[in-house]
Amino acid sequence: MINQILSSLAIEANNSGTYLGRWSNEGSAGHLNLVSPINSAALANVLISTASEIELTVEQSHEQFLKWKLLPAPRRGEIIRQVGNLFREKKSDLAKLITVEMGKPLSESEGEVQELIDICDFAVGLSRMLYGLSMHSERPNHRMYEQWHPLGVIGVITAFNFPVAVWAWNAMIAAVCGNTVIWKASEKTPLAAVACLKIIEPIFAKAGFPGVFSLVTGGATVGEKLCKDSRVPLISATGSTAMGRKVGMLAAERFARSLLELGGNNAIIVLEDADLELAARGIAFGAAGTTGQRCTTTRRLLVHRSVYDKLVSRLKVIYSGIQIGDPIDRSNLIGPLIDQPAVDKFLDAIKRSLAEGGSIISGGNLTPGKPSALFVEPTIILASKTHSVPKEETFAPILYVIPVDTLEEAIEINNSVVHGLSSAIFSNNLRATELFLSASGSDCGIANVNIGTSGAEIGGAFGGEKETGGGREAGSDSWKAYMRRQTSTINYGLDLPLAQGVVFKV
Ligand code: NAD
Repeated sequence: MINQILSSLAIEANNSGTYLGRWSNEGSAGHLNLVSPINSAALANVLISTASEIELTVEQSHEQFLKWKLLPAPRRGEIIRQVGNLFREKKSDLAKLITVEMGKPLSESEGEVQELIDICDFAVGLSRMLYGLSMHSERPNHRMYEQWHPLGVIGVITAFNFPVAVWAWNAMIAAVCGNTVIWKASEKTPLAAVACLKIIEPIFAKAGFPGVFSLVTGGATVGEKLCKDSRVPLISATGSTAMGRKVGMLAAERFARSLLELGGNNAIIVLEDADLELAARGIAFGAAGTTGQRCTTTRRLLVHRSVYDKLVSRLKVIYSGIQIGDPIDRSNLIGPLIDQPAVDKFLDAIKRSLAEGGSIISGGNLTPGKPSALFVEPTIILASKTHSVPKEETFAPILYVIPVDTLEEAIEINNSVVHGLSSAIFSNNLRATELFLSASGSDCGIANVNIGTSGAEIGGAFGGEKETGGGREAGSDSWKAYMRRQTSTINYGLDLPLAQGVVFKV
């Protein structure tokens, strides 16, 4: 199947060249040996970039930056428009590749490629809207304004669970802003990255800017080399909080910028007046969708005691009907976890939660008889606000249900974890929902009403607070992270008055 997908994407094995990542059908020293989490089938061997290849890639990316930044932004946008159109054509095959490599259901992979296309469209419009403010100067015959310039080579480090969308959020915006981008994809999903760059290579070659987007492949060592390179003024990194702590420090050491999109431990609050059917559907998708492997996955349910029985009964029915299996088959809503360590963490978290007093409401087991040993049951555990395991991010489909008595208590529990990414409330009480959205409410970067915690759109700024890293990317004015601001004051008069009335007679 993999050969069929790659050949319909017109991607051939390539052992040479460093720009676009390399893969082969044969094993060799220093490669990522990829197998599908669905059925353990061998996929490809992606070669790990060597130190000298990374060096060369940064050098070439910087050379391209010096040319690319001179192209007017709307013309950069025109090239990104072609990129979006090409991905429209390749959507179906690229989605299949994501599913085979990462294991998410086909519909979710198609949604991920759609997100890539959407951000291209957004970036095209943005290329004509990189606005700066103008200010009234206090000095006569002076004009003051700010303008935005590109930064340079942007390093983009991505996680396995969104193999292409997060790169696109960063890369398309960074490119219309005039930057070049080096992508360090997850070592667990590099084939989708190789595919993306090979798909769009002809567009950039034809336009005369072959190295605007490039790729280095490998794990933490490759990522760290990029973080330490003084020619890379911004590192945008998505992944675990442990990774962000390291990357943030490496960037800070040399006064580079970092844009960090890290872990989440997201809660949904359900109040006594909520539409419980709506809530149950939002919770099920948020907690079990993508096999619990989204940064925005719903990990805690803070439910008012008066509706606990009704909601939990409904969730049990929904969970019992969710089909688990090969994610290429559209009737299956849950595919495998990414690898064996993820399964071990799933089992370990359940064991520790039960040891501290939690009890299983639904699931809790592996699902034997599937094409690989990585399929698990989406799990619901009754826990208490005093338990410690629900405060951790376990990247698996475990939902901890914690009964609450008041909205204030629910908000306090919502905010009691180290992460601050996404949050939601289900209620029809205007006072309650507005309190949740107020400065006394959720402390997260995302706060939703009557929809779940996951499934963000690209139009808004995406990201979170505390140990989620504080970064914002995708829509709104996130583009400013990829540019440097310059404030300019122009004197068109015949005198040289000083600001604040300072006198300096010479
Ligand atoms: P991970 O931290 O293991 O790896 C993420 C990326 O960081 C990979 O490319 C990896 O090679 C690289 N990396 C790891 N250590 C590094 C180092 N020292 N220096 C440079 N690069 C390094 O994460 P993962 O398992 O791929 O993804 C799951 C995690 O990502 C979860 O915590 C999830 O919440 C988070 N995530 C966050 C967002 C967000 O937008 N906030 C989105 C997706 C995933």
